[in-house]
Amino acid sequence: AKRGGKHGWRQYENELHEEIVRRAAVRASLDRAIAEHDIRLDYQPVVELDGGRVVGFEALVRWPHPEHGLLLPDRFIPLAEETGQIVPLGRWILRQALQEAAGWSARSGDDIWVAVNVSAQQFADRGFADVVATALHAFDIEPALVVLELTESSLLPYEGDKARKILGGLKDLGVRIALDDFGTGFSSLSHLSELPVDILKIDKSFVARITESPDGLALVEGIVRIAEALRISVVAEGIEARDQWAALKGIGCDFGQGFLFGRPMNADSVHELLGSVL
Ligand code: C2E
Ligand code: CA
Ligand code: CA
Ligand code: CA
Repeated sequence: AKRGGKHGWRQYENELHEEIVRRAAVRASLDRAIAEHDIRLDYQPVVELDGGRVVGFEALVRWPHPEHGLLLPDRFIPLAEETGQIVPLGRWILRQALQEAAGWSARSGDDIWVAVNVSAQQFADRGFADVVATALHAFDIEPALVVLELTESSLLPYEGDKARKILGGLKDLGVRIALDDFGTGFSSLSHLSELPVDILKIDKSFVARITESPDGLALVEGIVRIAEALRISVVAEGIEARDQWAALKGIGCDFGQGFLFGRPMNADSVHELLGSVL
């Protein structure tokens, strides 16, 4: 009730000021962290559900902050998106991931892909395809082993052919496209048939429900069947339990990712893992 009062207004101004100062501070320290390479990438394994073979890794950004401890992406990616810092940060992430992944396949004796998250602003950036092309060339990695993960909401602002054209330009480079967090936001099955998508990542909220109710499993099975018909591979995210693994394998889901198989790990651990398995 006091919101409109003098005191309320003053307090609001103070809070607003603090917020601006806080953002400016985080912005400056993020710039510094990017410049000084204090940001790092961890990698979470993706496995073939039938057999458990490791087929790839998803790069996940981390910021070991001097004062706030290890920051997970949810703490700074939205901010970097607000300030536009996501464009240079995203470029750094892509290059770092491709550089670190370049030796994986040789080490394991098998094709190992690397998946990189791409935010809406990077995707909207006109220079993005060039950034990808330059990185592929610089680190001499097989383009088909690079997966760019986009969410449906990143594609939403585009009308008609536009999203398909931009994706087509990326696909011409030989990389693969994954639709991330499928089923959360504004899913439209028409996206799947209209866009050149190679991989569908089923969000962990669906995986959490598959062993709780028959409907939960039926829903995921429906998605898997549609993807199959469209020749799109499926990765189920957030697999934490063996019965989830079994259920997903049972309905023919190709790949999975989750704490059951491995938590995100640093690049050295990836190297050891690949060296030890084979
Ligand atoms: P995402 O792309 O859906 O990534 C998967 C998230 O689920 C990761 O969280 C991962 O640690 C977590 N996860 C994996 N397995 C399990 C599991 O079994 N159970 C549960 N509960 N969680 C699991 P993280 O690393 O905190 O990343 C959060 C989000 O931040 C990512 O969601 C992605 O949207 C974004 N993000 C991460 N790295 C980057 C990046 O390099 N660039 C951009 N633009 N966004 C990124
Ligand atoms: Ca992702
Ligand atoms: Ca996801
Ligand atoms: Ca299948």
